[in-house]
Amino acid sequence: VKDSSVIVVGAGIGGLAAALGLLRAGQRVRLVEQVAELGEVGAGLSITPNAGKALVALGLGETLRRIGSRPPDGAIRHYATGEVLVTLAQDQSGERYGLPLYHVHRADLHDALAAAVRALDPACLATGNALVGLESRADGVAARLRDGTVATADWLVGADGIHSATRWRCSVQTGRTSPATWPTAASCRASSCPQRCSRRRCA
Ligand SMILES: Cc1cc2nc3c(=O)[nH]c(=O)nc-3n(C[C@H](O)[C@H](O)[C@H](O)COP(=O)(O)OP(=O)(O)OC[C@H]3O[C@@H](n4cnc5c(N)ncnc54)[C@H](O)[C@@H]3O)c2cc1C
Repeated sequence: VKDSSVIVVGAGIGGLAAALGLLRAGQRVRLVEQVAELGEVGAGLSITPNAGKALVALGLGETLRRIGSRPPDGAIRHYATGEVLVTLAQDQSGERYGLPLYHVHRADLHDALAAAVRALDPACLATGNALVGLESRADGVAARLRDGTVATADWLVGADGIHSATRWRCSVQTGRTSPATWPTAASCRASSCPQRCSRRRCA
């Protein structure tokens, strides 16, 4: 769909990659992130060839080569003693899949994605705000944000992590609730819980 508007919730690697892909496809994107400042979170990531190809498609192939290192081989060690438990053969991904396995620091990848999003649309990323309510309408979606505003768009992408409030709110709306989709206390507030689910899950 050309020239539609999309709200992306969460500016982790998933949300930034989604926003970048949508911007490159000509969509109008608003990316909402709850933390005030994007910071250095996490450590090493293995970028397997399929993930690497997604980054190449997003225009970040050169960046991947710059920030990534290519392990010649690998080993799994005992966490305490350092004893080698398993050795991994030299990476054959380049020959087999057309792109080698890279190791990157998560912060480097996150920075690169954020920079690419901002380069395409400096106003796209709004930090320090969060999705607190969601309503599906005939003509799109209305997202209630923590600052009291309501953002509307044609589509909404939930990229707000493993305890996704978006996923939970969608499942409440569609009636497809199950314990697997309930949030933890961290992302569920009793005052905003449409389900009024038990206090053991709502903080
Ligand atoms: C120890 C470890 C090692 C890993 N190693 C690898 C690896 O080698 N290779 C690999 O591919 N993957 C690896 N992973 C998995 C990978 O790190 C995650 O799958 C990935 O980072 C998830 O990204 P995400 O954007 O979906 O979620 P997140 O990084 O959790 O981002 C979600 C974002 O949404 C924001 N948010 C949450 N709720 C709201 C809201 N209501 N409103 C607005 N914003 C909100 C959060 O603040 C956050 O910024 C590893 C994970 C761990 C824990």
